[in-house]
Amino acid sequence: MLCVTSTAFGPAELLLRLRDRGSAAAASPITHVERVPARAGRTAPWPAWTDPAVRDAFVARGIAAPWDHQAAAATLAWGGTHVVLATGTASGKSLAYQLPALNALTTDPKATALYLSPTKALAADQLRAITRLGIDGVRAATFDGDTGREEREWVRQHARLIMTNPDMLHHSLLPGHGRWGVFLRRLAFVVVDECHTYRGVFGSHVAHVLRRLRRAAERYGGSPTFVLASATTGDPAGTASRLIGMPVTAVTEDASPRGAVTFALWEPPLLPPSKLSMPAATEENDGFVDVELPPIRRSALRETADLLTDAVVAGTRTLAFVRSRRGAELVASMTRRALDEAVPGLGDRVAAYRAGYLREDRRAIERALLSGDLLALASTNALELGVDLVGLDAVLICGYPGTRASLWQQAGRAGRAGNEALAVLIARDDPLDTYLVHHPEAVFGRPVEATVLDPTNPYVLGPQLCCAASEAALTDADLDLFGGPPAVAAAQALAEQGVLRRRPSGWYWTHRGRPEVDLRGTGGAPVSVVETATGRLLGTVDPASSHATLHTGAVHLHQGVSYVVDDLDLEDAIALVHQEEPDWTTHARDVTNLSVVSVRSYVDAGPVGLFLGEVDVTNQVVSYQRRRIGSGEVIDTRPLDLPVRELRTVAVWFTVSPDALVAAGVEPADFPGALHAAEHAGIGLLPLIATCDRWDIGGLSTANHADTEAPTVFVYDGHPGGAGFAERAYGTAAEWLRATREAIASCVCEAGCPSCVQSPKCGNGNNPLNKADAVKVLDTVLAALPPA
Ligand SMILES: [Zn+2]
Ligand SMILES: [Zn+2]
Repeated sequence: MLCVTSTAFGPAELLLRLRDRGSAAAASPITHVERVPARAGRTAPWPAWTDPAVRDAFVARGIAAPWDHQAAAATLAWGGTHVVLATGTASGKSLAYQLPALNALTTDPKATALYLSPTKALAADQLRAITRLGIDGVRAATFDGDTGREEREWVRQHARLIMTNPDMLHHSLLPGHGRWGVFLRRLAFVVVDECHTYRGVFGSHVAHVLRRLRRAAERYGGSPTFVLASATTGDPAGTASRLIGMPVTAVTEDASPRGAVTFALWEPPLLPPSKLSMPAATEENDGFVDVELPPIRRSALRETADLLTDAVVAGTRTLAFVRSRRGAELVASMTRRALDEAVPGLGDRVAAYRAGYLREDRRAIERALLSGDLLALASTNALELGVDLVGLDAVLICGYPGTRASLWQQAGRAGRAGNEALAVLIARDDPLDTYLVHHPEAVFGRPVEATVLDPTNPYVLGPQLCCAASEAALTDADLDLFGGPPAVAAAQALAEQGVLRRRPSGWYWTHRGRPEVDLRGTGGAPVSVVETATGRLLGTVDPASSHATLHTGAVHLHQGVSYVVDDLDLEDAIALVHQEEPDWTTHARDVTNLSVVSVRSYVDAGPVGLFLGEVDVTNQVVSYQRRRIGSGEVIDTRPLDLPVRELRTVAVWFTVSPDALVAAGVEPADFPGALHAAEHAGIGLLPLIATCDRWDIGGLSTANHADTEAPTVFVYDGHPGGAGFAERAYGTAAEWLRATREAIASCVCEAGCPSCVQSPKCGNGNNPLNKADAVKVLDTVLAALPPA
């Protein structure tokens, strides 16, 4: 009889069990075990400037004293220094900005403060927290799309602490700044919470919205101090400075306490090579031929379900994070089935959890897990957002969640006071996941990824200058605020187009209405995804990726649910879809051409050249393949009739002379496959150094490019004008390409697999690819480039 009601095994025992199970195979799937030691907390006294009313309110909520980092950041802010606090989950970042802001409100009865968060839900949480403190005279209120007309009026006239988001600033508060003059004049603090989420094109827009806010405040005599809160990222001070346009001091030493965690990295084993019988392709042969399929790894979902089963049998309360909703449900059902086979009824102690559940259902599931009625939960990342579920025995992370910040946020759910906890990262069949389980220093070492944004992107800068000019004429000093020379050039271009008019007193917006600018995208209207039967709007997709992901017949995943596209109407920017889970996936095939417009910067390294510059990319999605789920077998290829798209963007590229490649042992006939493989892996590894998704970037490789007249690999930002990713890749090229080389070289597959050089988004069906020669290409480049 199994005892499952008590914790029969601790995490260390569980890990041993898992390792035993793994070692039955040829090699253990555990590639690394890291012990993250417990850390005692370090408190500081309440800063001397703290108003007793504010201090007492925190003490009454059980906070006897602030942690060291909270006091340090709060004191800097109180002294008027712009500050960013970049520490881990549950390290109490909110106290660090609440303390100076609330102190300003209680010590100066006229002062006001603004709190900005990327989501409405976070602002609502913040309002609840402030309200619970019950400090007299604070008058906090949210101001967002849900705020009614009358309520908005009350907020504008009476609220002193306003919780809002960048979109509301952009669409409502800044255009109507005249009515907000009193609030802006008295503005003491601007809090920018979760500021690492302002990245890429969206982040670049938000950077300008904050500059517009600074300008508007200054107009009425206000000069607020900015307090930013960020997850742990590389270079938080640099990113925060770029975001607000002024120097920012970073506080990064986390002084909050933490329980010990044993963290294992896990790589599912390769399956034995399989053969597939396919109809023969030739006329003479009318039978079937055996086709050798490329080796694939056991799926991360299956591995996770097995580990979850073991954990439940061991009586450990475990949470598994799975990236898609369908995946989470699959893991839960596989685990239930395995448990019921062992002990009938045991499967009832496993559940799935995802966004879309009603709040009450979610609370019930959370309670059952905390009480031990449930032993295992398979969840999507929905749990990441503001749910207070901590103190579990073990956390399984199925697939790298994209950033170290999310990884630690998920792993941070494990650990009870005084108890050892276990976290396991299970790699998916993907170059970045594979790289990470073989390079623990990239997971456990210093933070590697920096949040990337580029306020000088002309496609962001131009529209934002229009917004600013429509709020108040732009002076030359304003153009300094918006970026200096690039802003001057953009204003001149807008004047030539007749959008702005230059007068002695400044640059004026010439139109009647306000400019229509969407903070969350560039390059035309986003495509709406609409369910045909119900007319329900499921979401929107950036026009840049709509051709490849929403073409007629495409299988489209939205929040983990599968839909099939009935029709893509480009004129109205609508894709009509219906819910369906076919047993195939779709893969768009495209034709890409790229020409170099200008070179911004380059490194001349003998046989190798490294460049950053503007490029024009034309891309046409011409057909798509349907492939069987599981085997990957191609069912058919269907033509599509979509127009050519043009994109002017920023690219990083490297060239290698043909002689150097031949000297490295690459035959000219193999140039295309070698460069193509290096390009794929390079794109797959870019998220390691910049917080982007591989879907944000594109690539092109060619054995002889018309503009470079050499074998070349291009990697470009998939957004008009660039989002800063290519620039980041250029700046850290040696580090980026070395990781790329390692990812390919250390993969145990023979000729290339999804873990190294194959790409799920290849427009060429992953053909040709030459894994071994890609390593030679990268070795040649790395030998020539100056070290990082
Ligand atoms: Zn491989
Ligand atoms: Zn490709």
